[in-house]
Amino acid sequence: MKITIHGSGYVGLVTGACLADVGHDVVCVDVDQVKIARLKRGEVPIHEPGLEDLIRYNLGNERLRFTDDPQEGIEHGMLQFIAVGTPPDEDGSADLTHVLNVARTIGQHMTDYRVIVNKSTVPVGTADRVNQAISEVLEDREETLEFDVCSNPEFLKEGAAIEDFSRGARIVVGSESEHVQRLMRECYAPYSRQKDKLIFMDVRSAELTKYAANAMLATKISFINEIANLAESLGADIEHVRHGIGSDPRIGYHFIYPGCGYGGSCFPKDVKALARTADDAGTSATLLHAVEEVNEAQKSRLFDKLKRAMHGNLKGRTIAIWGLAFKPNTDDMREAPSRSLMERLWAEGARVQAYDPEATAECHRIYGERPDLFLSRQRDAALEGADALVICTEWKAFRSVDFDYIARTLNHPVIIDGRNLYSPEDVKRAGLDYYAIGRGDSL
Ligand code: NAD
Repeated sequence: MKITIHGSGYVGLVTGACLADVGHDVVCVDVDQVKIARLKRGEVPIHEPGLEDLIRYNLGNERLRFTDDPQEGIEHGMLQFIAVGTPPDEDGSADLTHVLNVARTIGQHMTDYRVIVNKSTVPVGTADRVNQAISEVLEDREETLEFDVCSNPEFLKEGAAIEDFSRGARIVVGSESEHVQRLMRECYAPYSRQKDKLIFMDVRSAELTKYAANAMLATKISFINEIANLAESLGADIEHVRHGIGSDPRIGYHFIYPGCGYGGSCFPKDVKALARTADDAGTSATLLHAVEEVNEAQKSRLFDKLKRAMHGNLKGRTIAIWGLAFKPNTDDMREAPSRSLMERLWAEGARVQAYDPEATAECHRIYGERPDLFLSRQRDAALEGADALVICTEWKAFRSVDFDYIARTLNHPVIIDGRNLYSPEDVKRAGLDYYAIGRGDSL
């Protein structure tokens, strides 16, 4: 099939590369000319395991092409995927500027029937707005071309995006048109061979499904964090509690890991946007607002613990941070807990020495060169001369460490672990003070 993807970010690139890999003929369009020039050379601007190989392979066999010319893309694909960003607006609602820009551009350049497939995460009712935006442009052009708009939300997670796209639990398609359903079935047939993964529904339900999924996952995280904080106050160990509740199949072990709060480009903005939608619809969103509130508070916990461990004074201190990305296996630092920690440390006059296996360049891009930030190329070098260590991301490389070395290297024997990576006994045996999330020794 001929397929066009508008937006070459995490979702657009993974979708484009995966669909090309199963034999489709894919053109990826982006307004960012620098990004497109790099992609044409096979350089992938983001870190996503396996993505560079997949893109290079499919560029080589010419099933995947990149362009900054939308007209080329709109002429090419019967299916026109929209995979552009939908960042939060000032009031928390999703900003649809990019989505509607793509819709209008499609309206300007289409010369034949097209199916517009919205993969961006968008509020209920957006398909109608896309429909209207295209209709208005066609009217201005005095054209009466046929088109359909459907919703196909994406559930991949960064760090395992190719696996998720290729072997995801389901493929949701919001469209009641039999013709569109047939085309979407053809598009996704290679991923639906063992089991029919396609779930068809009306477009509004599909749009809501994506928000409901992310809100449910965020709720699990805020729930376990709240219980972790309670465990800490009561002298219980949340890791035992987690095992105890996760063993119940009605609860399960997924997404009940306590930590320093969720971040990333999706959960924070999607929970906010859904709460905003509920407020606008006059429906109470008590739970969603609470999920957000718990998460915001959770993000400050590392800072608060560290400040107390440093006897209230962080001025002039050097703090080592392991992990900058919002989660492992990605370089994405959008809304990462590490960012709120670093920004508060700088506001208090502390210096940061940070190490992340993949997010160094991204951190430089966000914060530039500054005297109170040193980005180490090695995990252990970040500890040298530091007063304490804080762990923000559970990268595999942080799991097995030499606690004696850490105790010898840090000026103060303090680890604040935002991901509960270690056994408290092992850490304490090396003479280190260990403060994790919900594991007693409350600070
Ligand atoms: P991103 O910011 O990484 O990429 C968006 C891309 O769109 C950028 O390269 C930008 O230059 C491009 N763009 C902007 N306007 C354009 C236009 N008019 N034409 C063509 N390209 C344009 O975003 P992302 O993380 O890939 O997310 C895209 C959407 O998918 C969002 O709605 C997001 O909520 C949703 N989503 C993201 C994830 C994730 O893990 N990142 C997972 C599921 C769903």
